[in-house]
Amino acid sequence: MSRTMLIAGNWKMNGDAAQVDAFARDVAAGAANISADMLVCVPFVYIERLAAGLGGASVAVGAQNVAAEVEAGAFTGEVNGAMLADIGCRYAIVGHSERRALYGETDAVVAAKTDAAVAAGLTPIVCVGETLEQREADQTEAVLAAQIDALFAQCDARTLSAVVIAYEPIWAIGTGRSASPEQAQAVHAFLRGQIADKDATIAESVLLLYGGSVKPDNAAALFAGADVDGALIGGASLKADSFLDIARAAG
Ligand code: PEP
Repeated sequence: MSRTMLIAGNWKMNGDAAQVDAFARDVAAGAANISADMLVCVPFVYIERLAAGLGGASVAVGAQNVAAEVEAGAFTGEVNGAMLADIGCRYAIVGHSERRALYGETDAVVAAKTDAAVAAGLTPIVCVGETLEQREADQTEAVLAAQIDALFAQCDARTLSAVVIAYEPIWAIGTGRSASPEQAQAVHAFLRGQIADKDATIAESVLLLYGGSVKPDNAAALFAGADVDGALIGGASLKADSFLDIARAAG
């Protein structure tokens, strides 16, 4: 089965209305001949503005988080999947390492959010990854296996067949220090193998994105990995030209 590359931007808590407008204008102008799927996840308050600015360009918009609760109700400050779908979102990032580390999101919460996103018709981009300490202690595979196990323990096959997984080594996020293409491919092959042990069909179709200091000058080498199906990009997604250059590197 062939998998279409996905290039996803994560603006985190950055940007303002003027930056969203300029980015949307420039990405819409440059998107025409790019064959990879493109997605940009901006702060909730700018999602509709970004979608309007992108107009008919084939670039999806997404959220950086979603409530674990499906039904509307007394959950102050939360935004559920139905609300995101209602304003045109197609994706939501789930379990980014910053959410796990700063907001206490456990594997169980990440799985609940994954379920909630799929229930609302969204594609969750579920983030997994190890710390530098864990890598140096040779625990990378054990940490990733546990994160994948937790997801498969709580979510059913229908949900899991709608999921994108982003491998984001925490030591590479926002540090300028990317995994090498060989390290990324080795981990992606391991992840696909772990998933294949549970469900061979999902393993074949699931998109495995790499995230961690992806830039225009390292993107093509990272994308050469047979199991690297695109990227989740932080810093380099804030500017239209670097975002588009990375998308072009995906073919
Ligand atoms: C991220 O935010 O998920 C990320 C990978 O950031 P950066 O590309 O800046 O390392």
